[in-house]
Amino acid sequence: MSQLTNRRGFFKTAAAGAIGAAASVETVMAASPKASADRDLIILGAGCGGLCCAVRAAELGLKVTLLEKMSTSAGNTIYAAGFLLGVHTSFQAGKNDADSVDAFYEDMMKVSQGKGDPKLTRKVAEDADKTLEWLHKSAGINFSAGSKLVWPMLSRAHLVTGKVKPGGGQLSLSLIERAKALGVDLRFNTKAVAILQDEKTGAINGVRIKTKEGLSELRSKKGVVIATGGFSANQAMVTQYIGSGGAKMPIRGSRIIAGENIALTAPFLPKVVNVDQYHCGPIHGPTGANPLNIVNNGVCINRKGERFTNEGQTYVQMSRDVASMTPDNWAFMVTDQTGRENPVLANDWDSYARLGAPVYVGNTIEEAAKKAGLDPAKVAATVAEYNKAVKEDKRGALVPVNTLPKAPLVEKAPFYIVPFQGGMTATFGGPLINTNGQVLDTENRPIDGLFAVGNAVGGLFYDNYVGGAQLTSAAVFGVAVAEFVKG
Ligand SMILES: Cc1cc2nc3c(=O)[nH]c(=O)nc-3n(C[C@H](O)[C@H](O)[C@H](O)COP(=O)(O)OP(=O)(O)OC[C@H]3O[C@@H](n4cnc5c(N)ncnc54)[C@H](O)[C@@H]3O)c2cc1C
Repeated sequence: MSQLTNRRGFFKTAAAGAIGAAASVETVMAASPKASADRDLIILGAGCGGLCCAVRAAELGLKVTLLEKMSTSAGNTIYAAGFLLGVHTSFQAGKNDADSVDAFYEDMMKVSQGKGDPKLTRKVAEDADKTLEWLHKSAGINFSAGSKLVWPMLSRAHLVTGKVKPGGGQLSLSLIERAKALGVDLRFNTKAVAILQDEKTGAINGVRIKTKEGLSELRSKKGVVIATGGFSANQAMVTQYIGSGGAKMPIRGSRIIAGENIALTAPFLPKVVNVDQYHCGPIHGPTGANPLNIVNNGVCINRKGERFTNEGQTYVQMSRDVASMTPDNWAFMVTDQTGRENPVLANDWDSYARLGAPVYVGNTIEEAAKKAGLDPAKVAATVAEYNKAVKEDKRGALVPVNTLPKAPLVEKAPFYIVPFQGGMTATFGGPLINTNGQVLDTENRPIDGLFAVGNAVGGLFYDNYVGGAQLTSAAVFGVAVAEFVKG
């Protein structure tokens, strides 16, 4: 059993009690004023953003407390494949020389449909390289880089390597070890339930926390960093901001990411943006298996055996279509032995095998369809129509069209039917920040002492993201906050 599945089993149990850290104005005002401790910064959340912030702040000589509500890093970071992005790093060994910071920025803006905040996006593009080098030098993170992937990752992809899989798990573990070595006051099983402010100046100067001993307060001289992730596992918020298409998606990552970015900051009236935006992808919900590239290699059908989506779209859009265009959020990829042997799909087939997800196999399409509980004649007719269109170069006349640059024929036995759903990866909405990571209020002014990083932030991502850009931006802004606070 993989590390990921072990973690999921543990967090399934833990998630039930984790929702609903909503702070109220009453709670904030009721907090008794206490003298600031000899502590500079309090960081909430031990994911990539919070840990990078803690490590960099400690390196700069700041006294830091990092609070994590679970017994270890438990957010999306530990589920992440572990791709980060760089333009000209030492790990790329000259294999990306034709690239530029400007091209990286343009690609991020293109993927966010021009709606990502330009200043935040440029900050990520400009600081990515030095942040990756810093992760290596400071926390011993190793990367494998240099492979050329499809646009927009290209040769920018840096995969975290190490004993722990996936790479995101290795990233958090290495950062936790480094934080401990630097003397960061790391407190697990400690949940922030409210943000506190100086009652005279209004500056953020502490948190109310809940541990098994009960409620108490911690104060800091220079503020609080919200690194608590987004709201992907808070069904009420997903329904409210994203709608029922998102709400019926199984979760691809952490099940305890409950919207503290919005709930904890709400009393201070931040400018909250992009809450309707999220990333999704294919998943076999009951097991967590990920058919990723398989969804672009074959014929995608619904329970009636009909095509309903364009297999040439991104896996994000296809996943959205599955959730919104099928009544039960289930679709089926029909592929063949050529697809089974395609090396690009090796990890995806392995994911189904490793996690025990079903793949229905038959020597004929009808046999595979029968095993999948689908109408054999209908599925066979749909695949035949698709194959004919591929052979006659008439995929544009299919309804819906298939726009894959090179659509594979599905005709070499045995045949495989892979069931999957659209699954929620991460939400893109939250308080808007400036390039120092300061949370802005509704009048675009920084809220004194309130910072946010990683998936807690809104503004950077819209519609989709360049694979690797989320972890990169969490690290970039984690470092930026530490350096701004140090001054
Ligand atoms: C399957 C999957 C694969 C992905 N792969 C990639 C990839 O390869 N590259 C990439 O760039 N992005 C990837 N992502 C996205 C990436 O994982 C996230 O963007 C990133 O990990 C977010 O980091 P974070 O620090 O903001 O938050 P998280 O890692 O989510 O951490 C937040 C932490 O805050 C804690 N917390 C929450 N509330 C409180 C509270 N009240 N008090 C104390 N602690 C609290 C949580 O327990 C958690 O540990 C992937 C996501 C998924 C789901």
